[in-house]
Amino acid sequence: MSGLPAAFLDNMSRLLGDEFPAFVRAVQSPPVLGVRQNPLKLGGGSLRDFFPLALQPVPWCPDGFTCIPENHQPGKHPYHAAGLYYLQDPAGMAAVEMLAPQPGESVLDLAAAPGGKATHLASAMQNTGLLFANEIHPRRVWTLAENLERWGATHSVIANETPEKLARSLPAFFDRVLVDAPCSGEALFRRSPEATAQWSPAAVEQCALRQDEILTSAAALVRPGGALLYATCTFNPDENEAVITRFVRQHPDFRLVPPPPLPGAVPGRPDWVANDDLSGLEHTRRIWPHLAPGEGHFLALLQRQGDATPQPRAAQRTSRNVSLPVEAARLVDDFISR
Ligand code: SAM
Repeated sequence: MSGLPAAFLDNMSRLLGDEFPAFVRAVQSPPVLGVRQNPLKLGGGSLRDFFPLALQPVPWCPDGFTCIPENHQPGKHPYHAAGLYYLQDPAGMAAVEMLAPQPGESVLDLAAAPGGKATHLASAMQNTGLLFANEIHPRRVWTLAENLERWGATHSVIANETPEKLARSLPAFFDRVLVDAPCSGEALFRRSPEATAQWSPAAVEQCALRQDEILTSAAALVRPGGALLYATCTFNPDENEAVITRFVRQHPDFRLVPPPPLPGAVPGRPDWVANDDLSGLEHTRRIWPHLAPGEGHFLALLQRQGDATPQPRAAQRTSRNVSLPVEAARLVDDFISR
């Protein structure tokens, strides 16, 4: 079937049953364009007032829209260069809505480049608190920095670290941690021939192992009572429900929690993995291309045991938790408190 890997199609057919034909039709139809407006620059204004294309709302994201690009190239428009909007898969907009960061919090985006979710976090945090955007690949860090700068994200730190090193340096530091995990990218197939070419059952297995490792580091970075959001843009339960099942078994201080309403998203599939009735897997969410706008996503919201009430401001916790030279601590505290 037009270039899609046979083993992928077999797997999806087995999992989706009656829904499979609708899924394949969606995956083979042209993608819609997702656009997320920038409230940091638009204030109370709306992209709808000046965008050259008709915009439809994304049901789970108040700042998100879809449109048909026609002959326009919104990525080349001066408004894009000015940071008034970001082009992003509508399904990807669900992650930050589900994590629901609050102004003033310390939030880590552990795998942040090119910055779709990091710019969304900056909007939700209203440029307050601390947004720590990390990307492991040095070259991708530059794109992340450009996108955050264009967005006008003022309360952000950009880092180029491994999750393990961050976990050692900043244990239990963050109110919320977002893990937009590297994955086999099955939801990217209709946009990216490269993702299709790189896919194999062995790649899925490798991704799952790496996701386990990244989540283990991510867990150490969440403060007691804080939240962890795991997201992928792949459909395979081996990288989704199965990864979360292992994580919760190995981290009894984390539990899956019900997400805020995300109209159009449907529950994950505990029945697709051996989970011994792991409680909470029904709180995970899936966005399917045949049921909702966008390419597809898996999302799981976890909370670490402990007092969930907001902690002291990031500046105070910085001086307390991290050992820095006096001048560096002063600069960091000054930066965070602005
Ligand atoms: N969050 C980004 C956004 O919304 O624009 C997309 C992130 S992409 C799905 C996954 C990211 O994980 C990539 O930037 C990739 O470089 C990074 N990555 C790859 N291997 C990693 C690893 N072992 N640990 C942490 N991040 C990794």
